[in-house]
Amino acid sequence: MTTVAFIGLGNMGGPMAANLAKAGFNVRAFDLSEDALETAEANGCEVAFSAQEAATGADFVISMLPAGKHVRGLYVEGDTPLFEVIKQSALVIDCSTIDADTARSVAAEGEQLGIGFVDAPVSGGVGGAQAGTLTFIVGGSEAQFEQAKLVLDVMGKNIFHAGDHGAGQVAKVCNNMLLSILMAGTCEAINMGVKNGLDPAVLSEIMKQSSGGNWALNVYNPYPGVMENAPASKNYQGGFQVDLMIKDLGLAMDVSQQSASAVPMGSAARSLFTLHKAKGNGKLDFSSLMKLYQDEA
Ligand code: NAD
Repeated sequence: MTTVAFIGLGNMGGPMAANLAKAGFNVRAFDLSEDALETAEANGCEVAFSAQEAATGADFVISMLPAGKHVRGLYVEGDTPLFEVIKQSALVIDCSTIDADTARSVAAEGEQLGIGFVDAPVSGGVGGAQAGTLTFIVGGSEAQFEQAKLVLDVMGKNIFHAGDHGAGQVAKVCNNMLLSILMAGTCEAINMGVKNGLDPAVLSEIMKQSSGGNWALNVYNPYPGVMENAPASKNYQGGFQVDLMIKDLGLAMDVSQQSASAVPMGSAARSLFTLHKAKGNGKLDFSSLMKLYQDEA
């Protein structure tokens, strides 16, 4: 049986690991949070007491962590870096959204030890993680991409090979910068409609079927009560935190500077999300930007 070590069982990693267990993989799960471990066990994963215990002898090691420092800290730093215990035929698949430089340098350090490492950030949100319909954007060699598909196919619907190491992360921050702009625009339009007497559900349906339709409107409506399962209808709990969106927009700004690419819309969205965080909303789902418009109104 194929053994998968899964490190990082948060909003995304938890349901991703559960889908692997449901598909019959032997999943050894680890997280720093006891609650996350309990949920993983209830979902059919074997709980490990450390990342090292999870990864030893595993065929795949998947990580779903907040940022680059956590990924570097796990694989190459600390008392027992994970690269010291992972077997050579194993493939490491890092699904976190991190900077491309860290992804490339960690991949190079793995390669020196004969361990394959791909960046495979995801899109599709918690709903996509639960449904097993995520989009994976992989950076690595063709052979590593083929090897990764065995497990990525279980957790996702669209698996893309973006290019060599780091390319997955560059594509991912382009996507998330666009998403932040779409979310800000969606909040802006709905707020203006509501202030002019429109029902947010009716307006959303009109825009979905018109030229303003986009992902935020289709599956992630930011106005409370319009979409039953969206974070907006759950007090903006769960989902994708404002803090993580700001991290991704910071990564996008780095990429834009390095390549002298103009990103005025991305910069404006970053300022809006940063202002929203400064008002104490960093831990809320990113669709809570709606509150910024409502507060300012
Ligand atoms: P989260 O904060 O819910 O989960 C992160 C988990 O990692 C936590 O449970 C934390 O305890 C654990 N963790 C941190 N350091 C660890 C370590 N050293 N060892 C073991 N566990 C550790 O975050 P999330 O929303 O699941 O996002 C994870 C990544 O996926 C981020 O990079 C994020 O940008 C990206 N992402 C999130 C979404 C989303 O909708 N939430 C969508 C696409 C991509």
